[in-house]
Amino acid sequence: MISELVPANDLHKIDPVFGQQSFDNHEQVVFCQDKDTGLKAIIGVHNTVLGPALGGTRMWDYANEWEALNDVLRLSRGMTYKSAISGLNLGGGKAVIIGNAKTQKTPELIKRFGQFVNSLSGKYITAEDVGTTTPDMDLIHTQTKFVTGISVEIGGSGNPSPVTGFGVYMGIKAAAKHAFGTENLAGKKVLVQGVGNVGETVVSYLVKENAIVYITDIFREKLEEIANKYGVTIYEGDVYSADVDIYSPCALGATINDDTVHLIKAKVVAGAANNQLQNEQKHGLILKERGIVYAPDFLINAGGIISVYGEISGYKLDEAMKRTENIYNTTLETLNFADQHGITSHAAAFNMAQKRIDAKKLELK
Ligand code: NAD
Repeated sequence: MISELVPANDLHKIDPVFGQQSFDNHEQVVFCQDKDTGLKAIIGVHNTVLGPALGGTRMWDYANEWEALNDVLRLSRGMTYKSAISGLNLGGGKAVIIGNAKTQKTPELIKRFGQFVNSLSGKYITAEDVGTTTPDMDLIHTQTKFVTGISVEIGGSGNPSPVTGFGVYMGIKAAAKHAFGTENLAGKKVLVQGVGNVGETVVSYLVKENAIVYITDIFREKLEEIANKYGVTIYEGDVYSADVDIYSPCALGATINDDTVHLIKAKVVAGAANNQLQNEQKHGLILKERGIVYAPDFLINAGGIISVYGEISGYKLDEAMKRTENIYNTTLETLNFADQHGITSHAAAFNMAQKRIDAKKLELK
């Protein structure tokens, strides 16, 4: 999450915003503060060439504000490329609320955040992310219309996680096809790290296809609940050196880093977590050199944004699922493009997304 090249303790030595290593021509960064509710939030609008900047709001107990800023810069940039490669007419944005979602989230704080979103007049549209929920989006909806992922009862598409999970499953199948010559996952050993909203859905599809599923999570209770519900095995050893065919990171980002990248035994890395590669170039390249097929995170976890985009463009769940199914084709296309051009899959996905943004920019001139 924090830029890899600058140690966390040294982040204060560089310029606060434009000098951040994760700053990448972001159009706007908005700092929101409200003493009465304790709200401290940052909204990052990375790029609006293709449309309004849509991306979720993460509530997280960051160690410090630098970490929060870095996260919002990286996550909002990721959204630009996620929407672009998914063919959506959306730009990239994201918000972070600094605080513990379990102990510091109040309805007043969430509503106040909604007012800040509203003040951007639609340049940024929010949705849920780690630490926020569909009921939170409903609360934000009382303050602004620039929110997606609201409840079905009030005209929204509800929790996007099941659609995200389906897309990740499609991405896993495409990566398996590329790595093993078959998309069939029956008998393949898959380790799912993090069995929250998305991870659980991924597990459910894998089980249906008779994959051999192992799970890990830092919440023991959740782990046992999912293990019992789906009859899968709790993995107790070191995640990265696990003797599995597929490693599916569905928890938080940066799990592929200097400490882990050389340990991975799986032939495929494909999961839901955003920013899985701590350093996109370096760790992407090491995976490639080690012959590990990496399904770009922002490509295969786009089901959620495809789902909430329906609230803006008017399509329903069946259309969202159809579009999400196409992640299979886009992933295969990306992996083949990477091989043909001798670049990492991450770079290939970025190039393909950037092409779309550049073409639109030209059209707008
Ligand atoms: P979640 O909070 O519901 O689940 C995350 C799970 O990971 C939790 O059960 C948590 O206990 C576990 N976890 C945290 N740290 C861990 C660790 N070190 N090892 C093992 N488990 C750990 O979140 P989610 O909605 O399922 O999202 C999962 C990931 O997918 C996040 O990175 C999120 O940004 C990304 N993502 C989610 C969506 C969506 O639609 N929800 C869309 C795109 C991307």
